[in-house]
Amino acid sequence: MSERIETCSCFCGDIKAELKGEPFWVNFDHDDDCRKAIGSPLTVWVGYRPSQFQLLSGELKTFSKTLGIERSFCGRCGTSIGYQDTGIADELYLTIGFFDRPERFPPSVHGYWSMHLPWVKFDDDLQRIDTYTRDRHPAVGTPAERMAKGEKS
Ligand SMILES: [Zn+2]
Repeated sequence: MSERIETCSCFCGDIKAELKGEPFWVNFDHDDDCRKAIGSPLTVWVGYRPSQFQLLSGELKTFSKTLGIERSFCGRCGTSIGYQDTGIADELYLTIGFFDRPERFPPSVHGYWSMHLPWVKFDDDLQRIDTYTRDRHPAVGTPAERMAKGEKS
């Protein structure tokens, strides 16, 4: 069997990327930081190892508001693309909208259910977690803990 390959592109098409192999994580995310950053009531993140990602064209712009967190996007059309956190250094999260075949990535869990919008209804029986669905490295802590300590990223 051949290796799974998924292609990605931003809205304007300047940025194209390819992912090799299986994603290790797909989750709904109801957190308000991502809601602001993405501009959508909720987000679906697809998790891969950074080594599985290959940029084929274009250049990612990055933005960081929270210590240790870097978000990437297309500088031309603004499509949100990626999320990386130093607390989960070997994990790269990509927005579901960046994928050319988003139907192939059914989420397995709800993250930050505590922040979900009351009019967004789900009838699935997936686990609902009130915080992150992935544990941050204890030495690095969660983004909120980092901000509270005022540490430099
Ligand atoms: Zn673009």
